[in-house]
Parts: sequence; C-alpha cells; structure tokens
Amino acid sequence: MAVDAKKETLGFQSEVKQLLDLMIHSLYSNREIFLRELISNASDACDKLRFEALSNDALFEGDSDLKVTVDFDEKKKTITIRDNGIGMTRDEVIENIGTIAKSGTKEFFNAMTGDKQKDSQLIGQFGVGFYSAFIVADKVTLITRKAGASEEEGVRWESSGEGEYTIEPVKRKERGTEVILHLRKDAKEFLNGYKLREIIRKYSDHLNLPIMMLKEHYGEDKDKKEPEYETVNSAKALWTRPKKEITDEEYNELYKHIAHDYEDPMARVHSQVEGKMEYTTLFYIPNHAPFDLWDRNHPHGVKLYVRRVFIMDDAEQLIPPYLRFIRGIVDTNDLPLNVSREILQHNSVIEKIRNASVKKILGMIGKLAKKDDYDKFWKEFGKVLKEGIIDDEKNKEQIAKLLRFSTTHDDVEEQKISLEDYVSRMQEGQENIFYVVGESFATVKNSPHLEIFRKKGIEVLLLSDQVDEWLVNHLTEFDGKPLHSVTKGELDLGELDDKKDEKEKEKKTGEYKDILKRLEKLLKDKVKEVRITNRLTSSPACLVADEQDMEANLQRILEAAGQPIPTSKRIMEINPDHPILKHLKDEKDDGRFEDWGRILFDQALLSEGGKLDDPAGFVHRLNEMFMEMSS
Ligand code: ADP
Repeated sequence: MAVDAKKETLGFQSEVKQLLDLMIHSLYSNREIFLRELISNASDACDKLRFEALSNDALFEGDSDLKVTVDFDEKKKTITIRDNGIGMTRDEVIENIGTIAKSGTKEFFNAMTGDKQKDSQLIGQFGVGFYSAFIVADKVTLITRKAGASEEEGVRWESSGEGEYTIEPVKRKERGTEVILHLRKDAKEFLNGYKLREIIRKYSDHLNLPIMMLKEHYGEDKDKKEPEYETVNSAKALWTRPKKEITDEEYNELYKHIAHDYEDPMARVHSQVEGKMEYTTLFYIPNHAPFDLWDRNHPHGVKLYVRRVFIMDDAEQLIPPYLRFIRGIVDTNDLPLNVSREILQHNSVIEKIRNASVKKILGMIGKLAKKDDYDKFWKEFGKVLKEGIIDDEKNKEQIAKLLRFSTTHDDVEEQKISLEDYVSRMQEGQENIFYVVGESFATVKNSPHLEIFRKKGIEVLLLSDQVDEWLVNHLTEFDGKPLHSVTKGELDLGELDDKKDEKEKEKKTGEYKDILKRLEKLLKDKVKEVRITNRLTSSPACLVADEQDMEANLQRILEAAGQPIPTSKRIMEINPDHPILKHLKDEKDDGRFEDWGRILFDQALLSEGGKLDDPAGFVHRLNEMFMEMSS
C-alpha cells in the first residue's frame, strides 16, 4: 500500500455526532465503561492476530507475547490503551473508526424517539464500542500499524468528536494499536492507578489475555529503575474455570464483551464436557432482540475457540438459524487449530457439539418458560423460535412445548398460551386442536369461521404472525392431537357435533336447493361449490378451502412473494338462518338476486382479509341496496 504523505481532514458519517452526544449524555453515570470497551477491542485485535498467525507465523514479527497495557500520565492528563494485536491499515481506520458501519445503525437511528430517557435505553441495546472513549475524553488519538506491514505504514487518527477527524501517515515500529484519551476536565478521577485497576478487574478479568499496568504507578517507589509492568487481571479464559467459582458478574461481563451489549443477559447455560470429547459451551440469551434479528442471512452464531485460541466469530455451523439470537462461545479440544469454515461444514465433531448445544439451549429456554420472565423472552424471540418447528425436525416436539399463542380463550393479542394449556382445556370428545390463520390479529379474531366455536366454547388458536402459515404446515399434531384449520374442509367437530344440527343442515340443504344452484351459477368463476353450513351463527356467508386445497392466506403470501401458484377456487358456505338468505330465497328479480349474491361473496372475502377483484363494483352494489331500503 502506498503511503499517503499528507494529513487529511475527513468528516464523520453524519450520525456519528448525534450518536456521540446521545452517548455522552446517557452513559454519564456509568462512565467507567469506556475502559471496558477499549480493552475489549484490544483483546479482539489480539485474538484476530493469534488466529491469522496460525497460518502465517511472520505476522508475529518475533513477538508472540500478546497483551494489552494501560498507562496514564497525570501531567498530560491522558490514559493510553495499547495492544500488540492485528492493527489497522489506513483504509481500515477510515472504515472502522470513521464510520459507524455496523449493521443495525440505520435501524437504531430510525428507532430513536428524541426522548432522551427512552433513547438512553436504546443505546443500551446497541454497542457503541470505540466511541465510548468520548465519554471521558475531549480528544482521542489513535495510532496503529497493521501486523505484517512496514514501519512506514503507520496511521495516526485524531478527533475531538465534533464531526471531523484527521488522518495522517506516521512511522511506527510496533505493530498494533494505541488509543490515547485526552481526558475531559471532569474526568480526572480516572488518572488513578487504584481506580483503573479496579475497573479492569471488574470488567475485564475474564479476558484470556494479560492486561498490564506499570508497577510504579501502583506502588510507592515512583523513581528511577526500569519501568516494570504487572498483570492486573487473572488472564484466564473464564469458561475454563470451575463453574462454582464463577460469579454472576463475571459471567455477565463476558457476555457484554462477546455480544457487544451493554445490558446483562436474560439467561445463560454453561457446560463443560469431558470424556471422549472435550469441549465447553457457554450460551446466553440477550435481554433484547438485536435490530437485525429478521435478517436470516445476517452473520449469526457463536464464537469458536480451539484450545482457548479464538478461531472465528459467527460460527454459524454451531447454531441453527432459528437460534440466531443466542450469543456465546464454544471451545473444543477436538479440532485442529487451522480449522476453516469449509472444514466446519462437514465435520462430525462440530455436528456432535451442535446437537448437544441445541439441546442445552432448548433446555435453557425450557427453564425460562417455567418463569414469569417468559413473556418477555417470547415477545423478543418467539417469532424466531417458531422457525424451529420448520427447521428442526428432530427437536420439533420440544420446541412445540415452548411455543406461545393467542387464542379465543382470552382473545388478547399477547401470545401467552401454550399448547399444553390448550390441551388441558379441550372439551370432552374434542379430537382436534383448532386454529385460524390470517394476516392480522383483528382479522383472525373476528373471523366468521369462529362463530360456532365461540358458541360452543371450543378454544381456537389465533395465528397471525407471518411464520404461522409455515408453522401449521409443519406442526401437524401436538400430544397426539391433530392441528386443524377452522377454514378448511367441511366443519367436523367430531363428537362435539350435535346430531340434531346435522339433520337440520340436511333439511335446509333440501330447502335451499334452488338458491344454492343459482348462486353456484352466478359465482362459477370464483367458487367451486356453494353449500349450507352450521358453522355460522351471525354472519351470512364465509369462504373455506377444500380439504386438499391450499388455504387462502397461504395463497396470498405466496402471491405477494411473486410465486406462481395454481389458484384453487374456494367453497362458499352460507348461513340459512341469516335474514339475507331468508330474503334471497324469495327474491324473484334476477338482477337483484345477482347483486345480493355478489355482495355475499365479496363480504365473505373481505372478512377473511382478502382483496376484492372489483371493489368499486362492491361499493356501488351496496349503495344501491341502501338506497332501495331507504326509499
Ligand atoms: P465493535 O467493536 O462493536 O465492532 P467498535 O466501534 O468498538 O465496534 O470498533 C469498530 C471496529 O474498529 C472494530 O470492529 C475493529 O475492526 C476496529 N478496531 C477497534 N479497535 C481496534 C484495535 N484496538 N485494534 C484493531 N482494530 C480495532
């Protein structure tokens, strides 16, 4: 890379300034975390170098003793955090430090309300990393040189966080990065060896890397002698220590480091497996869903370590997509250090660890499900977990128990009811678990198909998440009870059916024979059959899918996704006791019969969230009816 000899002044991405202001304001009471963030970055940089040096030893430049040092200077009023990790090129500095290019940034700014209180909470969900330096500093200087590059390729970056930064080439012998914080007037308290040590032990003790500080600053004898450094943290991978000895705080700090999160996690599970295979897994459920949870292609997964050496982030082979919200680490003794993503793809060790990990994670969620907190978990991650029913055939049963639904039991939108709850309330003689699926909660809750179920007090699952259509395609039964759509096929309540009702239906079908024929002829392009039903109590008509046909909601989803699908005609069912049908029975005027018939079909379609072919025609016909009635 050519050295650009001049100093340049560049502008931040416009959001950076805004973010800085907000951050300084909202993290003021917890300022000390700047040190955790900068040490965390330094530690990551050492991990990256250690990994890259596995295949290119020269990157160590003769010094494989990786560490972070923290110095302070009372006179200059600076704190310096220095690492001998991977370092950065000029382009990387611009890319990583000059922009906040992390995924979710856009979403973060969109989510911001302008209300400082609320936005401070938001910032907690969103790592700000390097920029936390500006909480205590009014000027930050970063000097870095990429491992393996020449001495001439050093880079000096500097900013006072006011919308601009300068960047210039410098000569730098040592590889790695140092960050110099020029402290704000009100942050002088950090120029104190005891205080810095305390903060390091509090937040960074778990790091698998020595964090050094000058002995002199700590001790009494400040004069002369060679500067002597000592290790401040325990510098041992936390997860290798006996579980009993690890405190909640230590677990939480490790979580914040690996997840780049400010908040404590919701739950964790740590297991150390010994025997034929030796590996350790430590998984966490974050307290909040990340902004990019919906992007199934976004990098996901956990950190992979081999014998305590960091290998890679986002090892997606270790975690199926439906558990993409899990953060954590896997450390194994059974893989070679030079393992690549390609190797991971077909590796029996990985597969075994993955299977065991999924079990552990589902177990952790299962434990949570017994507590009140589960509502929160479900709100954050429920929709993603539902994908497990589709993706993970092996664990389907276990996942099904973790699902929560809205149902007609209480008609609230919040999903709180488990299938076990549902089954425990099933009526004597009820064989199926009934559900209705549609585009929105209001649509399904008010679906005419539910009328008979409500009348008889039979509970129905109200499904309106996008994933639900696929869910019911894969979850065909629970606890031996088939799931059955209330909008598909002939209404069959099994034992719950009233024999009297059946007789009545047959009788009515005879009585309405002519009307059924006339309607079928009129609507022949739209429906394959018109029949009498007793599933309706207050609506005049509804549409159902034939037993083997695709349901309307799924058809609509596929169409919206641009998938060509054979459209199957629906069946229209009518309620013979409804005044409109009673009236229609005696309608002699063909034109008026036709208007009524079309209105019946259109409103049945509307009530299930469908779209009319000819909305203007519908409105026109309706208005005609009103005018006739009022004249
Ligand atoms: P995050 O660490 O969450 O990605 P940061 O804002 O803290 O976000 O850092 C942005 C990026 O800058 C890092 O991902 C890394 O690539 C780079 N970086 C920061 N500090 C260092 C460092 N000490 N050495 C090398 N690269 C660094």
